[in-house]
Amino acid sequence: MTAIPLGVPEVPVRPIAERRASRRIQVGPVPVGGGAPVSVQSMTTTRTSDIGATLQQIAELTASGCQIVRVACPTQDDADALATIARKSQIPVIADIHFQPKYVFAAIEAGCAAVRVNPGNIKQFDDRVKEIAQAAKDHGTPIRIGVNAGSLDRRLLQKYGKATPEALVESALWEASLFEEHDFRDIKISVKHNDPVVMIEAYRQLAEQCDYPLHLGVTEAGPAFQGTIKSAVAFGALLSRGIGDTIRVSLSAPPAEEVKVGIQILESLGLRQRRLEIVSCPSCGRAQVDVYKLADEVTAGLEGMEVPLRVAVMGCVVNGPGEAREADLGVASGNGKGQIFVKGEVIKTVPESKIVETLIEEAMKLAEQMEQDGVGSGEPAVTVS
Ligand code: SF4
Repeated sequence: MTAIPLGVPEVPVRPIAERRASRRIQVGPVPVGGGAPVSVQSMTTTRTSDIGATLQQIAELTASGCQIVRVACPTQDDADALATIARKSQIPVIADIHFQPKYVFAAIEAGCAAVRVNPGNIKQFDDRVKEIAQAAKDHGTPIRIGVNAGSLDRRLLQKYGKATPEALVESALWEASLFEEHDFRDIKISVKHNDPVVMIEAYRQLAEQCDYPLHLGVTEAGPAFQGTIKSAVAFGALLSRGIGDTIRVSLSAPPAEEVKVGIQILESLGLRQRRLEIVSCPSCGRAQVDVYKLADEVTAGLEGMEVPLRVAVMGCVVNGPGEAREADLGVASGNGKGQIFVKGEVIKTVPESKIVETLIEEAMKLAEQMEQDGVGSGEPAVTVS
Protein backbone atom coordinates (compact mmCIF):
# COMPACT_ATOMS: atom_id res chain seq x y z
CA MET A 1 0.00 0.00 0.00
CA THR A 2 1.31 3.45 -0.85
CA ALA A 3 1.91 5.57 2.22
CA ILE A 4 -0.20 8.70 2.41
CA PRO A 5 2.01 11.72 3.04
CA LEU A 6 0.92 13.20 6.34
CA GLY A 7 3.32 16.10 6.53
CA VAL A 8 4.77 17.50 9.71
CA PRO A 9 3.14 16.97 13.09
CA GLU A 10 0.26 19.37 13.46
CA VAL A 11 0.88 21.74 16.33
CA PRO A 12 -0.59 25.20 16.54
CA VAL A 13 1.60 27.50 14.51
CA ARG A 14 0.18 30.70 15.92
CA PRO A 15 -0.26 30.80 19.67
CA ILE A 16 -3.38 32.63 20.72
CA ALA A 17 -1.33 35.12 22.75
CA GLU A 18 2.08 35.63 24.19
CA ARG A 19 1.98 34.10 27.65
CA ARG A 20 2.26 36.47 30.60
CA ALA A 21 5.73 36.27 32.10
CA SER A 22 5.39 34.49 35.43
CA ARG A 23 7.81 32.85 37.80
CA ARG A 24 7.92 29.07 37.65
CA ILE A 25 7.10 26.69 40.46
CA GLN A 26 7.23 22.90 40.49
CA VAL A 27 4.20 20.97 41.62
CA GLY A 28 5.97 17.64 41.92
CA PRO A 29 7.18 16.89 38.42
CA VAL A 30 4.72 19.33 36.80
CA PRO A 31 6.10 22.81 36.10
CA VAL A 32 3.61 25.65 36.54
CA GLY A 33 4.31 29.13 35.20
CA GLY A 34 7.36 30.49 33.45
CA GLY A 35 6.06 29.47 30.02
CA ALA A 36 5.34 25.85 31.01
CA PRO A 37 2.36 24.28 29.23
CA VAL A 38 -0.93 25.12 30.92
CA SER A 39 -1.76 22.12 33.12
CA VAL A 40 -5.16 20.64 33.95
CA GLN A 41 -6.19 19.94 37.52
CA SER A 42 -9.16 18.44 39.27
CA MET A 43 -10.19 17.52 42.78
CA THR A 44 -11.32 14.25 44.27
CA THR A 45 -14.84 13.92 45.68
CA THR A 46 -14.10 10.99 48.01
CA ARG A 47 -13.39 11.22 51.73
CA THR A 48 -9.63 11.58 51.72
CA SER A 49 -9.44 9.32 54.77
CA ASP A 50 -10.84 6.53 52.55
CA ILE A 51 -7.46 5.88 50.98
CA GLY A 52 -8.62 3.10 48.64
CA ALA A 53 -11.51 5.11 47.18
CA THR A 54 -9.38 8.23 46.85
CA LEU A 55 -6.56 6.40 45.07
CA GLN A 56 -9.12 4.73 42.81
CA GLN A 57 -10.54 8.11 41.83
CA ILE A 58 -7.06 9.53 41.33
CA ALA A 59 -6.29 6.60 39.00
CA GLU A 60 -9.44 7.41 36.99
CA LEU A 61 -8.46 11.08 36.85
CA THR A 62 -4.95 10.17 35.74
CA ALA A 63 -6.40 8.02 32.96
CA SER A 64 -8.58 10.94 31.83
CA GLY A 65 -5.53 13.21 31.46
CA CYS A 66 -5.55 15.04 34.79
CA GLN A 67 -2.05 16.29 35.62
CA ILE A 68 -2.43 17.52 39.20
CA VAL A 69 -5.03 16.42 41.74
CA ARG A 70 -6.24 18.15 44.87
CA VAL A 71 -7.66 16.36 47.88
CA ALA A 72 -9.64 17.92 50.73
CA CYS A 73 -8.21 17.72 54.21
CA PRO A 74 -10.86 18.75 56.74
CA THR A 75 -10.04 16.26 59.55
CA GLN A 76 -7.13 14.57 61.29
CA ASP A 77 -8.09 11.27 59.64
CA ASP A 78 -7.73 12.95 56.24
CA ALA A 79 -4.37 14.42 57.24
CA ASP A 80 -3.25 10.96 58.36
CA ALA A 81 -4.11 9.55 54.93
CA LEU A 82 -2.07 12.10 52.97
CA ALA A 83 1.31 10.37 53.14
CA THR A 84 0.02 7.14 51.59
CA ILE A 85 -2.01 8.95 48.97
CA ALA A 86 0.88 11.24 48.00
CA ARG A 87 3.22 8.26 47.75
CA LYS A 88 0.90 6.04 45.71
CA SER A 89 -0.66 8.60 43.39
CA GLN A 90 0.76 8.69 39.86
CA ILE A 91 0.16 12.44 39.64
CA PRO A 92 1.14 15.17 42.12
CA VAL A 93 -1.23 15.60 45.04
CA ILE A 94 -2.14 18.98 46.51
CA ALA A 95 -3.67 19.07 49.98
CA ASP A 96 -6.55 21.52 50.29
CA ILE A 97 -6.53 23.04 53.77
CA HIS A 98 -9.19 25.18 55.40
CA PHE A 99 -9.61 26.17 59.03
CA GLN A 100 -6.64 24.38 60.63
CA PRO A 101 -3.01 25.48 60.17
CA LYS A 102 -1.85 22.21 61.76
CA TYR A 103 -2.95 20.33 58.65
CA VAL A 104 -0.70 22.53 56.53
CA PHE A 105 2.27 21.17 58.45
CA ALA A 106 0.87 17.65 58.22
CA ALA A 107 0.50 17.94 54.43
CA ILE A 108 4.03 19.27 54.00
CA GLU A 109 5.41 16.48 56.21
CA ALA A 110 3.33 13.92 54.29
CA GLY A 111 5.15 14.79 51.08
CA CYS A 112 2.27 16.46 49.24
CA ALA A 113 3.43 18.17 46.06
CA ALA A 114 1.84 21.47 47.18
CA VAL A 115 -0.59 22.83 49.73
CA ARG A 116 -3.55 25.06 49.03
CA VAL A 117 -4.50 27.47 51.78
CA ASN A 118 -7.48 29.79 51.90
CA PRO A 119 -6.54 33.00 53.69
CA GLY A 120 -10.19 33.71 54.51
CA ASN A 121 -10.68 30.38 56.21
CA ILE A 122 -7.65 29.49 58.27
CA LYS A 123 -7.84 30.55 61.88
CA GLN A 124 -4.75 32.42 63.10
CA PHE A 125 -3.14 31.65 59.78
CA ASP A 126 -1.36 34.97 59.50
CA ASP A 127 0.44 34.34 62.81
CA ARG A 128 1.79 31.01 61.57
CA VAL A 129 3.10 32.15 58.19
CA LYS A 130 6.70 32.24 59.35
CA GLU A 131 6.61 28.60 60.47
CA ILE A 132 4.66 27.52 57.40
CA ALA A 133 7.11 29.30 55.08
CA GLN A 134 10.02 27.60 56.84
CA ALA A 135 8.46 24.14 56.68
CA ALA A 136 7.50 24.61 53.02
CA LYS A 137 10.99 25.85 52.22
CA ASP A 138 12.60 22.92 54.00
CA HIS A 139 10.54 20.44 51.99
CA GLY A 140 10.47 22.39 48.69
CA THR A 141 6.67 22.52 48.86
CA PRO A 142 4.91 25.31 46.97
CA ILE A 143 1.86 27.00 48.47
CA ARG A 144 -1.25 27.98 46.54
CA ILE A 145 -2.97 30.99 48.00
CA GLY A 146 -6.53 30.19 47.03
CA VAL A 147 -8.88 33.10 47.57
CA ASN A 148 -12.53 32.30 47.08
CA ALA A 149 -15.43 34.76 46.83
CA GLY A 150 -17.52 32.61 49.17
CA SER A 151 -15.00 32.73 51.98
CA LEU A 152 -13.37 36.11 51.63
CA ASP A 153 -11.50 37.55 54.59
CA ARG A 154 -14.05 39.37 56.80
CA ARG A 155 -11.85 42.46 56.98
CA LEU A 156 -11.98 42.81 53.16
CA LEU A 157 -15.69 42.06 53.00
CA GLN A 158 -16.25 44.99 55.36
CA LYS A 159 -13.92 47.22 53.36
CA TYR A 160 -15.40 46.47 49.92
CA GLY A 161 -18.96 45.44 50.87
CA LYS A 162 -18.76 42.27 48.74
CA ALA A 163 -16.30 40.08 46.90
CA THR A 164 -15.24 42.56 44.23
CA PRO A 165 -12.24 41.90 41.96
CA GLU A 166 -10.26 44.42 44.03
CA ALA A 167 -11.16 42.63 47.27
CA LEU A 168 -10.13 39.22 45.90
CA VAL A 169 -6.84 40.58 44.61
CA GLU A 170 -6.08 42.47 47.83
CA SER A 171 -6.71 39.34 49.88
CA ALA A 172 -4.36 37.26 47.71
CA LEU A 173 -1.57 39.82 47.58
CA TRP A 174 -1.82 40.53 51.30
CA GLU A 175 -1.31 36.84 52.01
CA ALA A 176 1.52 36.62 49.50
CA SER A 177 3.20 39.61 51.16
CA LEU A 178 3.21 37.75 54.49
CA PHE A 179 5.11 34.91 52.85
CA GLU A 180 7.41 37.35 51.05
CA GLU A 181 8.39 38.83 54.43
CA HIS A 182 9.93 35.45 55.13
CA ASP A 183 11.56 35.32 51.73
CA PHE A 184 9.13 32.66 50.48
CA ARG A 185 7.96 33.07 46.89
CA ASP A 186 7.23 29.49 45.88
CA ILE A 187 3.63 30.52 45.43
CA LYS A 188 0.79 30.33 42.94
CA ILE A 189 -2.43 32.21 43.32
CA SER A 190 -6.10 31.82 42.50
CA VAL A 191 -8.89 34.36 42.94
CA LYS A 192 -12.07 32.46 42.18
CA HIS A 193 -15.57 33.82 41.82
CA ASN A 194 -18.70 32.18 40.47
CA ASP A 195 -19.38 35.11 38.14
CA PRO A 196 -17.07 34.90 35.11
CA VAL A 197 -17.15 38.69 34.65
CA VAL A 198 -15.87 39.34 38.19
CA MET A 199 -13.45 36.45 37.97
CA ILE A 200 -11.96 37.65 34.67
CA GLU A 201 -11.45 41.13 36.04
CA ALA A 202 -9.90 39.81 39.27
CA TYR A 203 -7.35 37.71 37.39
CA ARG A 204 -6.64 40.55 34.98
CA GLN A 205 -5.82 42.87 37.88
CA LEU A 206 -3.84 40.20 39.68
CA ALA A 207 -1.81 39.46 36.55
CA GLU A 208 -0.75 43.10 36.41
CA GLN A 209 0.25 43.28 40.04
CA CYS A 210 2.44 40.23 40.53
CA ASP A 211 4.46 37.66 38.64
CA TYR A 212 3.21 34.60 40.48
CA PRO A 213 1.81 31.79 38.33
CA LEU A 214 -1.98 31.84 38.30
CA HIS A 215 -4.38 28.96 38.81
CA LEU A 216 -7.60 29.75 36.94
CA GLY A 217 -10.99 28.68 38.17
CA VAL A 218 -14.61 29.77 38.13
CA THR A 219 -15.74 28.55 41.50
CA GLU A 220 -19.06 26.77 41.93
CA ALA A 221 -19.55 27.06 38.18
CA GLY A 222 -22.62 24.81 38.36
CA PRO A 223 -23.87 21.65 36.66
CA ALA A 224 -21.97 20.31 33.66
CA PHE A 225 -23.66 22.34 30.91
CA GLN A 226 -23.59 25.72 32.66
CA GLY A 227 -20.23 25.13 34.31
CA THR A 228 -18.62 24.13 31.05
CA ILE A 229 -19.80 27.30 29.35
CA LYS A 230 -18.84 29.59 32.23
CA SER A 231 -15.39 28.04 32.47
CA ALA A 232 -14.79 28.03 28.72
CA VAL A 233 -15.80 31.68 28.44
CA ALA A 234 -13.75 32.84 31.43
CA PHE A 235 -10.66 30.76 30.68
CA GLY A 236 -10.87 31.72 27.02
CA ALA A 237 -11.00 35.43 27.89
CA LEU A 238 -7.96 35.12 30.15
CA LEU A 239 -5.85 32.62 28.23
CA SER A 240 -6.40 34.63 25.05
CA ARG A 241 -4.57 37.45 26.87
CA GLY A 242 -1.82 35.07 27.96
CA ILE A 243 -3.10 34.92 31.56
CA GLY A 244 -3.24 31.55 33.32
CA ASP A 245 -0.75 28.79 34.06
CA THR A 246 -2.94 25.97 35.31
CA ILE A 247 -6.70 25.45 35.21
CA ARG A 248 -9.42 23.67 37.11
CA VAL A 249 -12.93 23.44 35.74
CA SER A 250 -15.33 23.14 38.69
CA LEU A 251 -18.45 21.18 37.80
CA SER A 252 -21.23 19.58 39.78
CA ALA A 253 -20.31 16.42 37.89
CA PRO A 254 -17.75 13.60 38.22
CA PRO A 255 -14.22 15.05 38.32
CA ALA A 256 -13.12 13.20 35.17
CA GLU A 257 -15.68 15.36 33.32
CA GLU A 258 -13.86 18.46 34.59
CA VAL A 259 -10.65 17.15 33.12
CA LYS A 260 -12.24 16.43 29.74
CA VAL A 261 -13.62 19.97 29.59
CA GLY A 262 -10.32 21.51 30.70
CA ILE A 263 -8.37 19.62 28.05
CA GLN A 264 -10.89 20.55 25.38
CA ILE A 265 -10.63 24.24 26.33
CA LEU A 266 -6.85 24.14 25.98
CA GLU A 267 -7.05 22.26 22.69
CA SER A 268 -9.61 24.73 21.35
CA LEU A 269 -7.30 27.65 22.18
CA GLY A 270 -4.31 26.00 20.55
CA LEU A 271 -2.57 25.76 23.91
CA ARG A 272 -2.36 22.02 23.68
CA GLN A 273 -2.01 19.85 20.66
CA ARG A 274 -5.45 18.64 19.78
CA ARG A 275 -6.31 14.98 19.60
CA LEU A 276 -9.20 13.59 17.62
CA GLU A 277 -11.40 16.38 16.31
CA ILE A 278 -14.73 15.80 14.64
CA VAL A 279 -15.73 18.65 12.34
CA SER A 280 -19.41 18.05 11.76
CA CYS A 281 -22.02 20.35 10.32
CA PRO A 282 -25.12 21.31 12.31
CA SER A 283 -27.30 19.96 9.49
CA CYS A 284 -30.03 21.97 7.79
CA GLY A 285 -32.81 21.61 5.24
CA ARG A 286 -30.27 20.64 2.59
CA ALA A 287 -28.91 17.63 4.49
CA GLN A 288 -29.19 14.40 2.56
CA VAL A 289 -28.12 12.20 5.42
CA ASP A 290 -28.75 12.03 9.20
CA VAL A 291 -25.71 14.10 10.22
CA TYR A 292 -26.25 13.77 13.98
CA LYS A 293 -26.37 9.98 13.80
CA LEU A 294 -23.40 9.86 11.48
CA ALA A 295 -21.31 12.18 13.68
CA ASP A 296 -22.26 10.24 16.84
CA GLU A 297 -21.39 6.90 15.27
CA VAL A 298 -18.05 8.13 13.94
CA THR A 299 -17.23 9.75 17.31
CA ALA A 300 -18.10 6.54 19.17
CA GLY A 301 -16.10 4.44 16.70
CA LEU A 302 -12.99 6.59 17.16
CA GLU A 303 -13.27 7.15 20.91
CA GLY A 304 -9.94 7.14 22.71
CA MET A 305 -7.91 7.97 19.61
CA GLU A 306 -4.89 9.98 20.75
CA VAL A 307 -3.50 11.18 17.43
CA PRO A 308 -4.48 14.66 16.17
CA LEU A 309 -6.78 13.44 13.45
CA ARG A 310 -9.38 15.83 12.07
CA VAL A 311 -12.44 14.08 10.64
CA ALA A 312 -15.11 16.03 8.78
CA VAL A 313 -18.65 14.70 8.73
CA MET A 314 -20.75 16.86 6.41
CA GLY A 315 -24.37 16.57 5.43
CA CYS A 316 -24.37 17.73 1.82
CA VAL A 317 -22.33 19.06 -1.05
CA VAL A 318 -22.58 22.78 -0.13
CA ASN A 319 -19.71 22.94 2.39
CA GLY A 320 -19.10 19.23 2.50
CA PRO A 321 -16.33 18.83 -0.09
CA GLY A 322 -14.53 21.98 1.16
CA GLU A 323 -14.47 20.90 4.80
CA ALA A 324 -13.79 17.27 3.95
CA ARG A 325 -10.86 18.34 1.80
CA GLU A 326 -9.38 20.49 4.61
CA ALA A 327 -9.59 17.68 7.15
CA ASP A 328 -7.32 14.63 7.37
CA LEU A 329 -10.30 12.53 6.54
CA GLY A 330 -13.87 13.38 5.67
CA VAL A 331 -17.14 12.56 4.05
CA ALA A 332 -19.40 14.75 1.95
CA SER A 333 -22.77 13.07 1.74
CA GLY A 334 -25.47 13.30 -0.90
CA ASN A 335 -27.91 11.20 -2.92
CA GLY A 336 -27.56 8.18 -0.64
CA LYS A 337 -23.80 8.13 -1.07
CA GLY A 338 -20.72 9.49 0.64
CA GLN A 339 -17.60 10.79 -1.03
CA ILE A 340 -14.68 9.82 1.19
CA PHE A 341 -11.75 12.23 1.29
CA VAL A 342 -8.28 11.45 2.61
CA LYS A 343 -5.86 14.35 2.82
CA GLY A 344 -7.85 16.39 0.36
CA GLU A 345 -8.35 13.70 -2.28
CA VAL A 346 -11.49 11.72 -2.99
CA ILE A 347 -10.40 8.12 -2.54
CA LYS A 348 -13.76 6.48 -3.04
CA THR A 349 -17.52 6.89 -3.05
CA VAL A 350 -19.51 4.49 -0.87
CA PRO A 351 -23.21 3.89 -0.24
CA GLU A 352 -24.63 5.68 2.81
CA SER A 353 -24.78 2.41 4.77
CA LYS A 354 -21.00 2.05 4.44
CA ILE A 355 -19.97 5.61 5.37
CA VAL A 356 -19.31 4.97 9.07
CA GLU A 357 -17.33 1.77 8.64
CA THR A 358 -15.30 3.26 5.78
CA LEU A 359 -14.43 6.37 7.79
CA ILE A 360 -13.40 4.30 10.79
CA GLU A 361 -11.32 1.98 8.61
CA GLU A 362 -9.53 4.89 6.95
CA ALA A 363 -9.09 6.68 10.28
CA MET A 364 -7.38 3.62 11.72
CA LYS A 365 -4.97 3.50 8.78
CA LEU A 366 -4.14 7.18 9.15
CA ALA A 367 -3.76 6.88 12.92
CA GLU A 368 -1.41 3.94 12.56
CA GLN A 369 0.75 5.88 10.20
CA MET A 370 0.69 8.98 12.39
CA GLU A 371 1.78 6.88 15.33
CA GLN A 372 4.62 5.39 13.27
CA ASP A 373 5.65 8.93 12.32
CA GLY A 374 5.53 10.00 15.98
CA VAL A 375 2.71 12.47 15.42
CA GLY A 376 0.78 13.17 18.59
CA SER A 377 2.91 10.90 20.74
CA GLY A 378 4.29 11.86 24.11
CA GLU A 379 3.25 14.97 25.99
CA PRO A 380 1.50 17.05 23.37
CA ALA A 381 1.16 20.31 25.26
CA VAL A 382 2.50 23.34 23.47
CA THR A 383 4.80 25.73 25.23
CA VAL A 384 4.31 29.35 24.34
CA SER A 385 6.75 31.71 25.90
S1 SF4 B 1 -23.00 21.00 5.08
FE1 SF4 B 1 -24.94 21.00 3.98
S2 SF4 B 1 -26.34 19.97 5.39
FE2 SF4 B 1 -24.60 20.57 6.61
S3 SF4 B 1 -25.23 22.55 7.43
FE3 SF4 B 1 -24.02 22.95 5.58
S4 SF4 B 1 -25.55 23.17 3.98
FE4 SF4 B 1 -26.58 22.17 5.72
